[in-house]
Amino acid sequence: MHKFLISSILVLYMIEVKNLKMVFEVNKRKIPVMNNLSFYLPEKGIYFIEGKSGSGKSTLLNLIEGLYKPTKGYIKINNKRIDSMTYEEKTLFYKNEIGILFQSFNLFNDLTLKENLSIASLIKEDIDENIVKRYLAKFRLSDKLDQKVYSLSGGEKQRLGLIRALINNPKIILADEPTGALDNDSSIVLMEELKKISENSLVLVVTHNEELVNKYADGSIIFLEEGYLLNNVLKDNPNENLNIIKNKKKVKERIKFYFPLLLRNLFKNIKRNVFMGLSVIFSLLITIFSFSFYININNTSKNLIYSYPNYNIYEVYRSFKTSINDSSLAIEKKEKIDNMELMTFLKENDFNNYIIKDNFDYFFKNNVINIDGNTYENIVFEPSFELMDNEIIVNEAFISSYIKEYKEGITINFKSENEYSAYSKVINDEIKETFNFDINFLIKEVSKEFNFLSTPKIYYSYSFFENYLSLTLASNFSSLENNKTTYLDLLRKAENNDPLTSYSSYLFIEKYDFSRFNLFIDNEENIDDYRFYNDSRTIISSFKDIINTLFIALIIFIIIISLTSFFIIFSLTFYSYLSSKKERAILFLLGSNKKSIDLIYVLEPLIIYLISFIGGIILFNLIKNPILNKINSLLTLNLTINPSIFFFLIIFIIYFLIILFSALIPLLVSKNIDIASELKEE
Ligand code: ADP
Ligand code: MG
Repeated sequence: MHKFLISSILVLYMIEVKNLKMVFEVNKRKIPVMNNLSFYLPEKGIYFIEGKSGSGKSTLLNLIEGLYKPTKGYIKINNKRIDSMTYEEKTLFYKNEIGILFQSFNLFNDLTLKENLSIASLIKEDIDENIVKRYLAKFRLSDKLDQKVYSLSGGEKQRLGLIRALINNPKIILADEPTGALDNDSSIVLMEELKKISENSLVLVVTHNEELVNKYADGSIIFLEEGYLLNNVLKDNPNENLNIIKNKKKVKERIKFYFPLLLRNLFKNIKRNVFMGLSVIFSLLITIFSFSFYININNTSKNLIYSYPNYNIYEVYRSFKTSINDSSLAIEKKEKIDNMELMTFLKENDFNNYIIKDNFDYFFKNNVINIDGNTYENIVFEPSFELMDNEIIVNEAFISSYIKEYKEGITINFKSENEYSAYSKVINDEIKETFNFDINFLIKEVSKEFNFLSTPKIYYSYSFFENYLSLTLASNFSSLENNKTTYLDLLRKAENNDPLTSYSSYLFIEKYDFSRFNLFIDNEENIDDYRFYNDSRTIISSFKDIINTLFIALIIFIIIISLTSFFIIFSLTFYSYLSSKKERAILFLLGSNKKSIDLIYVLEPLIIYLISFIGGIILFNLIKNPILNKINSLLTLNLTINPSIFFFLIIFIIYFLIILFSALIPLLVSKNIDIASELKEE
């Protein structure tokens, strides 16, 4: 009695199970596993839990490990209720106080024996290397340190599992069927070892091997159908009222870094990771190229507007320059060249394939169109050179700006109001004549052009106008002049300063003569006071539209590409995260904290990203010039790409954040894993 009292006062580690009831609920069906179980285990000795398969032995161990919350009753370890432990306390408990040998070992099968132990020693504290060596020798594993665990026999795995459980001399060892995979001799070695350990620690062994119980047990708890049989195990805690001083060690958990696991993950999923890396490189290259090109094209296009000979149309006029005092500036006066004169000039210079048209740009300046009773001004008119009657083509911007509901065959009324002052010269008076004309056009089609930023446009036929103007009488004017004058006559008669004037002609040069003509007009000596102005407005405005459209398309493209690769990264990370549940459960029960475990899964994509980024930059520099040359030669451009370090830095940071984010989402959304079911025997 006296002896017992002393020893129980000195007890520091112990397990107390009180009125324990466990009922599982599966699909609303209750599975009672344990009812009203009470016992008390001292700080030292080897105790057995014995019973038939399915009687609840493993469940009891899981309850002691704190993986389930009991339906009723409680378990105390060192006078502390397991179910009220904080996350931090639990982590410390797994790390320092308890060693678990799982029924199905739960080792990292694709790591070596040495790596398995080194992960455990990274997590746990106070590792005695000599003890580990001694165990390795004892369990005949010393020469298999570099062997992968999957190549070990069941017995060897079981022994390795035990070494891992014992690695820091825990005060409590829980072993679920530790000899299940062992031959007789090995069983004896193992049991002898556990017996020895039980001189200083509490060893709790689950078994259905009665022989072992008889030979080694200090006491046992037997699960029977009708209840529990306790052999040499107290039902109640003799120190119940004794306030045992708790070990109030509260260490802030440091984040630990499990390099072997990270390295293993990087190579284990090598195909996946290469794929992931490639997708990063791909979207990186697309992004860098796209932005560089856009910036470059944008600058280049500004130059192009003024320098690029783009169409086989020239505006032709005679130019009179009056210089302003001594300055280099001059006032240029344009005058329309007589068509006959122009034809002769061109023939003399051996340009035989050309067409001369009147340029109606000015003429159409003060026009108004009428659609459904509404009038609109300042519509952009673009000549279209194919022959049409009174049909026009409009662009989509036109439709969306002016016509609410477009049906085919809508009529547009074109009104032009012009003033003709040159008349005064004819009759030597100050009369100015205003006249109107009015034509109905039919929208022939809506041309799909690059819509972004484009202005509403009408494409009309020069030939039609020329024809129309040459046939339609300018009635007001002709009544004064007393002869039949057409609008076209008026136009041709007009003086330079008349509001109604065609100042110039359009000259169409055949495509094959175009470059020769360009050369010809570049050589100014040939052309006296004629000006050939290569009107690039149409093509340049389209070109700018195209660039802007392309840029928007590019942005969308980049977003899609990036989203795709981020989605790939996200789903791969998510997948590896989900498929690593068991691994995380093992780490948790070894005493690792959640942050350290998560670190492995966040670092993995980030490392791949880092490598891909460097790879991407190298690749970019390798392919930059060939691609640039190809594009420049295809488009006769002169693009260069020299993104700054700053640009790369921004891209790096943006990608980094997005990848970090996509790696973190799985961690944030995944619920706590059910550790017990993850570690269940397969
Ligand atoms: P054993 O004594 O063979 O180790 P277990 O403790 O593993 O038995 O299982 C005892 C009973 O509890 C079994 O009927 C099993 O189906 C049930 N059980 C164990 N774990 C769970 C669980 N997580 N959910 C539902 N039932 C469970
Ligand atoms: Mg079991």
